[in-house]
Amino acid sequence: MIIILKQNAPEQRVQALIDDVKQQGMTVHYSQGAETTILGLIGDTSRVDEDKLRANDVVFDVRRISEPYKAANRRFHPMDTHISVGGHTIGEGFFHVLAGPCSVESEEQLLTVAQSVKASGATFLRGGAFKPRTSPYSFQGLEADGLALLREARKITGLPIVTEIMSEAQLDEFEDVDILQVGARNMQNFRLLKALGRTNKPVLLKRGLSATVEEWLMSAEYIMAGGNENVILCERGVRTFETMIRNNLDISAVPLLKSHSHLPVIIDPSHAAGIAWMVEPLARAAIAAGADGLMIEVHNNPKAALCDGAQSLDLDQFANLMKEVRRRTEFEGKSAD
Ligand code: PEP
Ligand code: MN
Repeated sequence: MIIILKQNAPEQRVQALIDDVKQQGMTVHYSQGAETTILGLIGDTSRVDEDKLRANDVVFDVRRISEPYKAANRRFHPMDTHISVGGHTIGEGFFHVLAGPCSVESEEQLLTVAQSVKASGATFLRGGAFKPRTSPYSFQGLEADGLALLREARKITGLPIVTEIMSEAQLDEFEDVDILQVGARNMQNFRLLKALGRTNKPVLLKRGLSATVEEWLMSAEYIMAGGNENVILCERGVRTFETMIRNNLDISAVPLLKSHSHLPVIIDPSHAAGIAWMVEPLARAAIAAGADGLMIEVHNNPKAALCDGAQSLDLDQFANLMKEVRRRTEFEGKSAD
């Protein structure tokens, strides 16, 4: 981080600033040019409050040279993170498909979908029990009964379960869930992120509707700063000016995240596309870009789905998608394990 000082800044005030920064554990490199004086901060600047520095009247500008996230940063953790969950490993070199209905609707629906996606090659069962809906009048999920059905489906199929947690007050209730999903709308629910940081549960952190990659990594940092390093990032499309698609899948997020972070990256083409026919081409793009897995919405009768039916694949469409996924991931030397 560098601090550019205002011209003719009083020496005493500059010294006070230098002392303050040093007290925060930083070494300061003072460089006086013909026109500008620059202070170079050397050390861990992730906890330095940029706004506070900017508010100092001797400061003209503050620029970060390194990223504000540390635990999630590949620079400090060059090796890829692998997460062991439900007898599988998620991370670079492996490829997992997390599939299931947007929301758990009934025993028959969930068991039918779970058995079918397993037969097609999915390695995790996803399903929402608590649904964050835009309208309070829409179906909100079966809640605790939905969680019970997910446990039953896991018992029958052996598939580990992934479901969305909306509040830190639910941590006990979600104790035996294999992967806790933090939805796009809660990506910056900092109390929830901090509470998840105090657990050792794998967390699937979805990207916020209009979050930058850095904001997203800072949310991962909240969880990791608490000691929980089991974070999986999930790109699900972002809002743009485009109206012909639900969200724009940001495929460039995959190589970007892979270069800036060591965390596994999963793509959710269903919420990006918003429409079933586009799920497969986006899934192919995800594999080509280097994602470590996919999260796909599947329903036994999409037309009758209580949530996100338009983007849900039916059982046959999912089986076909999995053939394509297997062919392409095998070519890349990746498998589910
Ligand atoms: C979901 O996975 O069903 C969901 C609600 O996704 P998102 O949080 O990405 O909108
Ligand atoms: Mn959904």
